[in-house]
Amino acid sequence: MVGASLRASDHSKKEIRKVLEKLTAAGWTIHADGHWGKLYCPCDSQCTTIPVSSTPQNDVNHARRIARLAARCPLPEDSPQRSLTGKRRD
Ligand SMILES: [Zn+2]
Repeated sequence: MVGASLRASDHSKKEIRKVLEKLTAAGWTIHADGHWGKLYCPCDSQCTTIPVSSTPQNDVNHARRIARLAARCPLPEDSPQRSLTGKRRD
């Protein structure tokens, strides 16, 4: 794989952290790459990877884009990880 493992809390932008926290809670992982990192989806085939910028021009839009791309990963209906997606409130 690529660079070191990153945590959602490592990102300096609040809006981005929020979406990263939601995704990592659902099993996504982040690795250092490019301008900051890259998200890897939790399914076996790793069907989706999403580049994450450290300093996007617009934090909210970048966070939305990440969330939209993340929705492409088709976790199976019965996956316990699926129930976490978008529903975690901490
Ligand atoms: Zn996937």
